[in-house]
Amino acid sequence: MNMISNLYQEVAKKTLREDALLIKNIAGNNSREDFQDIFGSIEKRFTLIDSKGIVIYDSEKYDEESTMENHSTRPEVIDAIRDGQGFNVRKSRTLGEFLAYYAIPYTDEYGEDYIIRVARGYNSDYKNIRNILIEQIIFFIILNMFIHFSYKNYLKRHLFNKVDEIREALEAGSEVTEIYSKGDVWLVEFWKVVQSWQSKNIKNLERLNLEKQILRQVISSVDMSIVLLDENMKVILKNESLNYLYSFSQGGYYYQGMKYIEIINVVKKATVEKKDVKEDVYISKLKKYLVIGVKYLEFRNQFIITIKDVTRNREMMEVQRNFISNISHELKTPLTNIKGYLIALEDAPETMRGSFLKVVKNNVDKLENITMNFLNISKIENSKVLNLAPVSFEKIQEEIEKMLSQYIKSKNAEIIYSINLLDANNYMRVDFDKLTTILKNLIENAIIYNDKKPVIKIEIKEVYDRYKIVIEDNGLGIPKEEIDSIFERFYRVDKARTSNVAGTGLGLPIVEELVGICGGKIEVESKEGKGSLFRFFMLK
Ligand code: ADP
Repeated sequence: MNMISNLYQEVAKKTLREDALLIKNIAGNNSREDFQDIFGSIEKRFTLIDSKGIVIYDSEKYDEESTMENHSTRPEVIDAIRDGQGFNVRKSRTLGEFLAYYAIPYTDEYGEDYIIRVARGYNSDYKNIRNILIEQIIFFIILNMFIHFSYKNYLKRHLFNKVDEIREALEAGSEVTEIYSKGDVWLVEFWKVVQSWQSKNIKNLERLNLEKQILRQVISSVDMSIVLLDENMKVILKNESLNYLYSFSQGGYYYQGMKYIEIINVVKKATVEKKDVKEDVYISKLKKYLVIGVKYLEFRNQFIITIKDVTRNREMMEVQRNFISNISHELKTPLTNIKGYLIALEDAPETMRGSFLKVVKNNVDKLENITMNFLNISKIENSKVLNLAPVSFEKIQEEIEKMLSQYIKSKNAEIIYSINLLDANNYMRVDFDKLTTILKNLIENAIIYNDKKPVIKIEIKEVYDRYKIVIEDNGLGIPKEEIDSIFERFYRVDKARTSNVAGTGLGLPIVEELVGICGGKIEVESKEGKGSLFRFFMLK
């Protein structure tokens, strides 16, 4: 407002000055009466003051000048005498309203000094101008705002249109840069930033998804039950292993879903005391040994439960224990026999010595047999690797007959081969050691468990990627109810039925194990008194 006031004062001063100079020009040729004629009716006030401050003429107080105050102390008059011009804005003491005064010195034709003063109403003019200015300012502010909002809207619409166009261009497979003029370069740049940011994000998401999938697969492929619980024993995550322990699939409280109280007790112990727990539990209903581990994740206040079924391990340990005690038992019998007969031999009459020595020899054979079988078993257990290599059937036949020559000779056994191989020279791709051990055990049994002249038929046939091998004998046969047991370690069908005291009950378990390593499964068909047939396949 001050600025407006200053500006207005300048304008007022300028017009008053022009008026004063005009009056100065016409003043010399005119009397007081003329002044009144000229200036009495105009808006401006004209005052003529002499050098002593006495008002000679005043257009507003014509003929009353003598009643007016001395004007020598008026600021504009003082300034005019001193500086050649004076300007002042103040409330008129004569008229009682705000006026702008301008005064200049004037010397008439007689050399008398006067002051010409021009004044005009200041307040109303100023107010008018100020109002006009304020109106205009408000008008311009509104106009500005209107322009601003219109432009903003225009920009918004423009941006939306551009985004639409970009989308259409992208959908149509065009390059965004192709469609835009120079003015839109920023939009293209912006779009590129968004695109690269988006593609980075997509890659990150893909990577995270892949990691998640891998983690899921790892968790689900582990053969132990894994469950993640929150602090209230609510299931957050669970894999599918050992599902028979649970009656829920996902979610819910652990103690509601877990079927066995023995497991719940272990888990509760860990969750209540907020500590790690590891315990072995035997579930009698399932006949299963389980190892339960609960790990407390302190930083998340969660628990990871792992349950591993170790029943097979425990059973294996049991088998090992039985195996050792069986070995001791098996070794003890022939050793006791040998010892007994050797002592008896010392005082035995000549006629008995032969039969005593035979018993000793049989028991030594048995010991040898047992030892060989044990060695075979431990060999199999230590190395389950297949050594497939081409070998002619003749070589296999030679090896078997060499190993069994004693049995074949003593029982006058006849072995009939039926070999049907693809190779003209009867070459097979087999693990030589394993196949000869299998055949040796099966043919040996076919000869031993036989009360007639053993006739053994061996058939080998190459079928696609495997060999089919059948060993058929005309021996004692195996009672139906015993067939399932003959592959168990140390199992022997009624010992009294043969003279084979050297048997250990380990031959067929070894055969079964070796056939398994060679990629096959052995089957038996047998009829008591008629004979037995062992059939199996081996991968090439
Ligand atoms: P072993 O011959 O040392 O007793 P095996 O494991 O080889 O042990 O055989 C187990 C039992 O199966 C034998 O005791 C025997 O009674 C029976 N058996 C095996 N092969 C035949 C066969 N070919 N004919 C009749 N019985 C057999």
